[in-house]
This record gives sequence, C-alpha cells and structure tokens, in this order.
Amino acid sequence: MVAVQLPMDIVYTNRRVGDTLLKTHRSAASMRSAFAARPMNIATYDVVIVGAGIVGAACADEFARRGMRVAVIDQEIVGGGATAAGMGHIVVMDDSDAQFALTRYSQQLWQALRPELLSDVEYDQCGTIWVAADEEEMAEVRRKHDYYAQRGVPTTVLNPQALRRLEPNLREGMAGGLLVAEDAVLYPPCAARFLMERAQKRGAELRLGASVVNIGHGRVRLSDGVEIAGGIIVNAAGAWAPELTRGVDIKKRKGHLVITDRYPGFLRHQLVELGYLKSAHSVTSDSVAFNVQPRRTGQILIGSSRQYGAEHRDVDQVMLARMLQRAQEYMPGLGPMSAVRTWTGFRAATPDKLPLIGPWPGDKSLFLATGHEGLGITTSLATARILVDQITGAKPEIPIETYLPSRAVKEVAHA
Ligand SMILES: Cc1cc2nc3c(=O)[nH]c(=O)nc-3n(C[C@H](O)[C@H](O)[C@H](O)COP(=O)(O)OP(=O)(O)OC[C@H]3O[C@@H](n4cnc5c(N)ncnc54)[C@H](O)[C@@H]3O)c2cc1C
Repeated sequence: MVAVQLPMDIVYTNRRVGDTLLKTHRSAASMRSAFAARPMNIATYDVVIVGAGIVGAACADEFARRGMRVAVIDQEIVGGGATAAGMGHIVVMDDSDAQFALTRYSQQLWQALRPELLSDVEYDQCGTIWVAADEEEMAEVRRKHDYYAQRGVPTTVLNPQALRRLEPNLREGMAGGLLVAEDAVLYPPCAARFLMERAQKRGAELRLGASVVNIGHGRVRLSDGVEIAGGIIVNAAGAWAPELTRGVDIKKRKGHLVITDRYPGFLRHQLVELGYLKSAHSVTSDSVAFNVQPRRTGQILIGSSRQYGAEHRDVDQVMLARMLQRAQEYMPGLGPMSAVRTWTGFRAATPDKLPLIGPWPGDKSLFLATGHEGLGITTSLATARILVDQITGAKPEIPIETYLPSRAVKEVAHA
C-alpha cells in the first residue's frame, strides 16, 4: 500500500435563444434612461461573472480582451473550487465528436498560450499514454489511433516493448498503449490565477469573499444585500451552479487525488488505463481507475475516483484504498512511496457529459459556463472563446450547438 501515512455605451441584446447575440451601440443618454430605475450606488458592468475558478477566470480574461468591463465575484479565492482539486491534465478526448472538438480546440489554445504562461503554471507537454492491459484494450488503442489520425492529432501505437522503454515502472505483461504526444499537464490553481491576473491587467475587477445568493435579469445579489448590475451575467459557479440557476441539470461527482513525495524519473508521461473510459462513463456506480501524472517537482499525482451522491468533502477511506490498489496493480513501485497529501473535489456532471456554454432560456441576461465534469481545466480556454463569440456575434471556430444550455432545459422538462 502507498503509505498514506459594457463600456457604458454598449448593450448586449439576446436576439434569439440559441442564436448569436447582437452587440448594439447606444447613446449615453439612452443608457442613462436604461439604468434610471436603478439606485445610484449599484455598480454596473458589461459582464458580471460568478465564480473565479479556471472557467470564470478564462471567461473574464476573454471578455476583457474584447474590451468589455468585467467584474468577477467569488465566495472564496481564485481557483479554490474544483480547480484546486483537479489534476491539470490537458487531454484530447473522444467520447463524442463534440467532446473531441472542444478538447482539441482548447488544447491548441493552451499550446498557443504556452510562451506567456508563468513558470508556476508548470505547463509540461509530457504526453499521455493510454495503457492497454489486454488485447481487447489494444483494439481500443487502434480505434483511438485511427480516430485521432483522421482529425490531425498525432499518436503512436506502442507494443509491449516500446511501452516498457517509455515507462519501465509499469508492471510487466501489459499489451501495449497509445502515446498522445501533444497532451500536457499543468498546475490548475496557478493557471487560474494567471488568467485572472491577465484579466485584471485588462481592467477586470475581482471581488473575493463575497457569496452570491441570487442572479438573473441583469443583477447579482450578494449575501450582504449588495447588488451588482451587468448586461451579461455568467454563472460559472461549477458544481454549485444549480444553486444559483434553478433547473440546471448538474450533479456533483466527487473525486479523490493523492500526491506523493518526490521520486524524480519514476514516471515520465501521464498514464491512464483504457479502463478509465469505462469508469468515467459509469453513471450508476462508484468507480476507480489508474491515472497517474508526473509533476515537475518529481512528485506523482495519483487518481482517480468517481462518486455520485457523496457530497461531503471528507476523504472516503474505502474509495481511497480502492484507488491506490488499482494504481499499484499497474505500477507496483508506487506501493512503498510515501504520500504527502490526499484531497477531494467535485466535478460538475451533466447527463450527456458535455458542458453548458451559452444563454440560459428565459433570461436574456443570463449565460452559463459550467458542467465541465473532469475536463474543465482542459476546456476552460475554448469555453471562454465560444461563450464570448456567442455574445459578440463573432463566428466560433467550432460548432457550438451541442454545448448550448437549451438542451439541458429540455431534458429537465422531460425528466
Ligand atoms: C479529482 C478531480 C480531478 C480532475 N482532473 C482534471 C484533469 O486532469 N483535467 C481537466 O481538464 N479537468 C479535471 N478536473 C475537472 C476540473 O477540475 C473542473 O472541471 C474545473 O476545475 C471546473 O472549473 P470551474 O471554474 O467551472 O469550477 P470551480 O473551480 O469549482 O469554480 C467555481 C467557483 O465558483 C465559486 N462559487 C460557487 N458558488 C458561489 C456563490 N454562490 N457565490 C460566489 N462564488 C461561488 C466557488 O467558490 C468556486 O471558486 C478534475 C476534477 C476533479 C474533482
């Protein structure tokens, strides 16, 4: 066992739900009349974002980059929610074409941002190896290789010898694997801070330690009664989004992670068992999967677990033991290592495993950027781009229909 000892003259009008939003310029006089009903002391922004996780931070940065006046509000700190708990694996996934499009687009945005990232973000393009334990999983390796090749993602099929050369600490007897060389890892809380600080340099305002109790119809109300007005309100509250927007179909999906002491050179790539796909897809039962990540420090991040209906933050010793047992089945050398910290976090899971990005039907001011489950670090940058594209009327680089929140409302209505 691991020893776990608006500038003011711009109004954003929702022209049609599910369609792009038009930006119209108004005179200062008409703006004054638009806000005439508001008390004098209400701060007013083009955009108010609730949530300073990596998604909220990426959105703030993108709105600010396009010249809008932005405020971000969080009850805690920047990157303190699921973002602090996440693994930071920037990974292209292919559960669906829509998932592939979003993860790949976002990965390329991370690659483009790489030269600007500060060293504490610890961006490292170490690559992923999907590990196949048997011939059935090798068939999945070949399918994945073909799928990625058709879409321009370079991958290499590894036979047992090649796998062993790349990762000598995997147990013997593995059938092979798939190397996805452009996948990367980073340290999520510092990545969120980087994005938020860049947004602030572009004029965004940040308010921390402020709990939001109500949003919608151009207003955000804080627990102390203060109200903030915005032409656009973005719910980026992660797994807590349904508490602010009723009818959003998101469930908390708990995960555990463990980080070891420093063992430089033990692990070189992010390794994930192909069985991970089965475990990530299971919506009925708790599951664990072998998923390990090398950190720049020489530490090893060990995951992963998935649980529904467990809404307390405590470490679940049974899940933890199962997760570590699974890790050692793949890498026996993890057993004697000492672990320095174990923690949990909550993924925001939607029924169709795709995020909710776009207007919320029934409230022209309200937009969602949430529901990213286990891919929100990866997809934060693309989420911000396609959300702001929708609002400014710019043409998104990927089709956006599958991410629109209107689909979730339908599912709720028919449930
Ligand atoms: C164990 C685990 C491993 C993961 N590994 C990966 C990975 O390897 N790669 C990957 O891409 N993704 C991974 N994820 C998923 C990723 O961490 C999340 O998808 C991502 O962090 C979501 O970011 P967010 O900004 O939407 O939410 P959060 O980071 O949760 O931010 C939401 C923010 O909203 C604030 N908030 C909520 N309610 C209110 C309120 N009423 N008033 C004010 N503020 C409020 C919270 O304080 C919080 O700061 C993992 C997640 C977990 C749990």
